[in-house]
Amino acid sequence: MLEEQSISGTAAINETMRNSLVPKKLEIFVWRAVQRRIPTRMELDKRGIDLHSTRCTLCDDDHESVDHTLIFCKYAFDLWVRVFSWWGLGNVSDLSINEILRGNNSGSMTTLGKKIWQAIEWVCTYLIWNNRNYKVFRGKSWSIPVAFNEVQVKSFEWISHRLKGKKLDWLSWLNDPSVYLSLT
Ligand SMILES: [Zn+2]
Repeated sequence: MLEEQSISGTAAINETMRNSLVPKKLEIFVWRAVQRRIPTRMELDKRGIDLHSTRCTLCDDDHESVDHTLIFCKYAFDLWVRVFSWWGLGNVSDLSINEILRGNNSGSMTTLGKKIWQAIEWVCTYLIWNNRNYKVFRGKSWSIPVAFNEVQVKSFEWISHRLKGKKLDWLSWLNDPSVYLSLT
């Protein structure tokens, strides 16, 4: 059942895998995440790489699948809660990573608003993976406030440079970004 859902989710997401508001490296990362081609311990194990454990390298509470690492690991989840709350949106808990990356989860809005929210979700996902790698390979501590600030700064920087003919305002970006969901 889960397998079927993820296959149909992948087929649906292939149509919306482009987002001109983020750097190319994010599009590539997102594509790999949807295909389950990022090297979490579970994915390495499936490909026959001999690991002593497939448990999450951060929390050890579950196996290190793509969904666990990018959403349900407590380190990622606390960050998602903050990001959703920052945009005045509901709960992240019922979503899969494919649903998050598709970016359809903020209710009705304009095409541009939807694209902006999808970009936020892609930036957050990308930074979660980067922070996971910094912690695993360099022993860097994981700070939710620092990661959250990084999502706010990087998303502003990347999106504002790519929004043709529109401007984002830094203070409203920080304090009430939901106004951008209705941007046309
Ligand atoms: Zn974990």
